[in-house]
Parts: sequence; C-alpha cells; structure tokens
Amino acid sequence: MTVLVRNARQLLTLAGEHGPRRGSRLSELGLVENGAVLVREGRVVAAGPAAEVEALPDAGRAEGIDARGAVVMPGFVDSHTHLIHARPRLADYEMRLEGANYAEIARAGGGILSTVRMVRSATGEQLEQQGKAALRTMHRHGTTTVEAKSGYGLDLDTELRTLEIAGRLGAVPTYLGAHVTPPEFAGRAGEYIEWLCREVMPQVASRALARFADIYCDEGAFSLSDARDYLLRAKELGFGLKMHADQFSRLGGTKLAVELGAISVDHLEHAGAEEVQALASSTTVATLLPGAVFHLGLRCYPPARALIEAGAAVALATDFNPGSSPTCNMQMILSLACTEMRMSPAEAIAAATINGAHALGIGGRAGSLEPGKSADLLVLEVSDYREIPYHFGVNHVRLTMKQGAVIPWD
Ligand SMILES: [Zn+2]
Repeated sequence: MTVLVRNARQLLTLAGEHGPRRGSRLSELGLVENGAVLVREGRVVAAGPAAEVEALPDAGRAEGIDARGAVVMPGFVDSHTHLIHARPRLADYEMRLEGANYAEIARAGGGILSTVRMVRSATGEQLEQQGKAALRTMHRHGTTTVEAKSGYGLDLDTELRTLEIAGRLGAVPTYLGAHVTPPEFAGRAGEYIEWLCREVMPQVASRALARFADIYCDEGAFSLSDARDYLLRAKELGFGLKMHADQFSRLGGTKLAVELGAISVDHLEHAGAEEVQALASSTTVATLLPGAVFHLGLRCYPPARALIEAGAAVALATDFNPGSSPTCNMQMILSLACTEMRMSPAEAIAAATINGAHALGIGGRAGSLEPGKSADLLVLEVSDYREIPYHFGVNHVRLTMKQGAVIPWD
C-alpha cells in the first residue's frame, strides 16, 4: 500500500546523519516547510518538500492523508521503560507525598519488592493485558518504538515470562534481572548475581528473549563489582549492555559502562565532570529520564547541558514504571527536558527520536524519516514544533503511524 502524507506546515525529517546527534547538531531537525512524506509497504520512500515528493510517480496513486497544516515528525522512540509491572503503586505515592521515605514505604509493604510480589502472582494473561493497555496509551501519545525491561520477576520463570510478553507486544526486550535483590537472596546480592550469570542469563540468551542486559548500579541496589561481573557475563553471551547509573549516588557505574562499550547508560542525575567527559569521548548514549526526578519531587536533574556541550550523545525516555515515573507521555518528558534541563525544543525532539533509536541500536531503521526507514510518524495538532514542549501536559498527537499503518484509537 502507498500512502502520501501531505500538507505538513513543518515536516521534521531528522535526516542526514549516521550516528547519534551530538553537540550543536542535536538541534538540527531537518525542517522542511510545506513538506510531504511518501510511504510504500511500511517504509519511507521520500520525505521532503511537497513539490518534490508529490511529483514522484507513485504519489498520484497513493492514498492521501491531509496533515492540514500541522507538524509531521518521526514517532517517539521510548528507549527506557519498565512496561510490564502489573499494577500502579498508589499507596506508595500517597505515603511519599505525606513525607515517607523509601525505607518507610518498604516497611509498610510497598516499594519495588511489592511490584515483584504482584508480578510473580499475576497470570501471563494479566501481565499481557496490562502491557498492552500501556502500549495503547503510548501510541496515543506518539510513541512508536518502546523498549521494555524485565526486573519485577527476578526468579527464572517470571523473568522469562515477562520477556516473552514484551517480545510478543512488539517491544524491544531488555533483561534486567539485576534490578533489585529478591527476598530469597536477601543480604546476599553477590550470590544472586552469580546465580543470574550461571543459571538465568544463559537461558535468556539461548531463547533469544532479550537484546540487551541491564543492571541497576547504585547505593541500595548493586555495587560496581557486581555490575562488572554481570555485564562481562552478559557481553560474553552476546547481549548489548545497558546500565542504570548515577541516579542517587556516584559509584563509578558510568565509567564502567563506557569501558565495557555499553550502548547506553541511563539516569545520570549525579553524574559529574568525569562522567560527562567519559561519555563525550565514547559511543555510549546518555539516556536522561527527567520524569523520575519530577515524580519523586526531587530537584537534581541530570546535567543535560554539560553533556550536550561536551559532545555526548543524549537521548530522552520516560522510564515508565510504577514507582518513580508513571507516565507514558514522551511529550511531557520533552517539557521537563526543556524547562528543567534547559534543552531547546529542537534538542529535546532529536533526543527523543533519532538518538533514542541509537540507544536501542536501531538508528538505521527508525528515529528519522528517510528513504528505506520504517514509516513511523506522527501528525501533531500544532503548527510549530516548539509548541510540543511549550504547551506542557497536553497530548498534541492527532495521528500515529507505525510501519505505514495508522494506529486506530479504540
Ligand atoms: Zn529504569
């Protein structure tokens, strides 16, 4: 099927670069005034000035979508989510608003281990329905590619089940067995990591259930030496590497991730000058998650400006999860990136599309509107892209197209 999206007041192609965008190039959106996109069999054939695209032989026969003077851009790539987590944690939220800390919430039966209990006791069908509902919300808000981590099962069966569901739902699955130490290994984090490396990770690898392996390296989570053991084993088994690092404390995780050639290191709220430099001179993408800082009511946002100015590749993601960032809306993440981290609207858009795709190793087929790439695009109810973060908390998406098909709202 051939589709022509026409009459875009602003078409953002994000075209023209092989790797992730860095430095001043992060704000280059490939903006075309009065643009059009021609799509065939789920892929972009051409994206550019209407006069050129509409003159192509296929354009006359194509089914038309009239953007009516709106902004057309690539779909968001949400490269860091904990998509499958059974249920929200509303009691934790209320307790935190009343001033309770992490330990008090855990003592009251909440926190991350309460999600582990819920996910372990949920049926596969329930988890799949929850994941599907969240994905539907993401699509409505313009996200066309979603990464989904395990890490709320922790035992072998539930981790495998979570990853299978993530794959079935079309997400990019990441194995996060090293999210938190489960109760059956309480006080024995090192032994837990050993068990993951020996028993679980090889099964995830042999069944090809995840593309990446991820570890939460922080105080109260896993140590730097745990992270080294876990990631070296993951590398040996052929996983791409990711790491949650520098969220609440600086343990050296970012430098380790860079040393091991991780595809991304995520969070970075407490990254300092050394981390910024290490990232700038590496291929590792710095994935920033301002939604978690916002929802936890904290003030310590990651050093986006320092990272961009040093030349690091910066991506933005929701960190969608029930404890610290219960949002499916990348547009809100753009608003936080601009207002709280001083990114420009253009930088935030590139970080949430093409650089997010590179954080998942799919920059060659998603994240921009270029010939041959997947036709994942949005029509937004705005006439200038800067309105997307400016009108915060508003869903501007009129239409989401994935692989050339308009996703129906139901
Ligand atoms: Zn996370």
